[in-house]
Amino acid sequence: MPAPTSSGRVDGRDPDLNTQDPRPNVQGPTPNTQHQRLTLSSVLGLYIHVPFCAAICNYCNFNRGLFDAGLKDRYVAALLAELERAADGSPVDTVYFGGGTPSLLDPGEIAAIIERCARSWALASDSEITLEANPETVTSERLAGFRASGVNRLSVGVQSFRDEELGRLSRLHSAARATEAFHMARTAGFSNISLDLMMGLPQQNEAEWLESVEALIDLGPEHASLYLLEIYPNAPLREAMAIGHWSVTPEDEAAGMYLSGLDRMDRAGYVQYEISNLARRGRESRHNLKYWTDGEWLGFGCGAHSTRNDARWRNLASTEEYVSAVAAGRSAAIDRRTLSAEARLEEALFMGLRLSAGLDVRAVHTRYGVDVWARYGAELHPFVDQGILHYDGRALGLTRTGMLVAHEVMTVFIR
Ligand code: SF4
Repeated sequence: MPAPTSSGRVDGRDPDLNTQDPRPNVQGPTPNTQHQRLTLSSVLGLYIHVPFCAAICNYCNFNRGLFDAGLKDRYVAALLAELERAADGSPVDTVYFGGGTPSLLDPGEIAAIIERCARSWALASDSEITLEANPETVTSERLAGFRASGVNRLSVGVQSFRDEELGRLSRLHSAARATEAFHMARTAGFSNISLDLMMGLPQQNEAEWLESVEALIDLGPEHASLYLLEIYPNAPLREAMAIGHWSVTPEDEAAGMYLSGLDRMDRAGYVQYEISNLARRGRESRHNLKYWTDGEWLGFGCGAHSTRNDARWRNLASTEEYVSAVAAGRSAAIDRRTLSAEARLEEALFMGLRLSAGLDVRAVHTRYGVDVWARYGAELHPFVDQGILHYDGRALGLTRTGMLVAHEVMTVFIR
């Protein structure tokens, strides 16, 4: 049984909606019934990609490159221009800075981008504005600056609270630095913080994984994302593993890590609301929920994807090409295509199934005119019998162990 990986990670960074991944099992606990029912999103979100990093981690397959001050200046200017050209005054209630390492931008640059968003769209006064941050990039002053700029949610890439593991991943920070960054963020006024951890790291065993989970719980963030490390074919980490004689975590052990980590989080009072995400009540990522609840968003910056009005497109992936196109007054958008109602429905089903609360079948019926159970029930019923799916006439979702075999279930929706 595979554990959830980051490949289906549809967070703010250019989500690849064609590679949705699921996971889970048989006979898992039923979904947390305390969790609020999640309905389909309707208000627009903005995703802003910042592709710069201080160093490139040996496992990373995101759209990123090394920080260059001159290129960064031109990039921010391009972002501001792209935002202005796309402005249409529509309501917006989330802004998400993903990367890369958005916390490498100066607070003044983040403030200018947020201000441009507010000028270009009807940005709700209670908008969720998230900045992804790496621990080594923040200081008390910079964090205070980000907070003053309007950022009200931090998503910190911790990955592990064990230095040995961080070293194997070539991360620039230590566990102590991550802890210090968290406390500095609290002092700077951040009351909504998410921490990312990865499981299945080279040489990691379950007890070591749980050490990191416990360390996270001790800090008490409002939100946590737990992912399985995925090692893409040409990742430098593969060579490091060969040289260091490090082993990858076997699939069944990774599944055990996933379940034990979630169990520990349950006991600490966190509520799992998506395959890889947990939160204190009311602190789910409003932006990422747009991806999982058939919402709409506009992406800005290199490689950013957009979905709006039944159309999808993405921006040029290369930072230089993106900057050149925008500076020359051209659109950076490519691969624009219209999504058929069938394609949107399929995606809404795939993505909705990632949620612990399940897919709201009545909302799907209202939006697409399709009775999900009438159409797919014969094929889904065996999964319910096996404890992989739960269905109560309103919500259709994976049980926790069902999350380990999500791909199997999702194939039902492909016609
Ligand atoms: S900091 Fe994040 S985006 Fe940058 S190289 Fe490392 S994993 Fe990739």
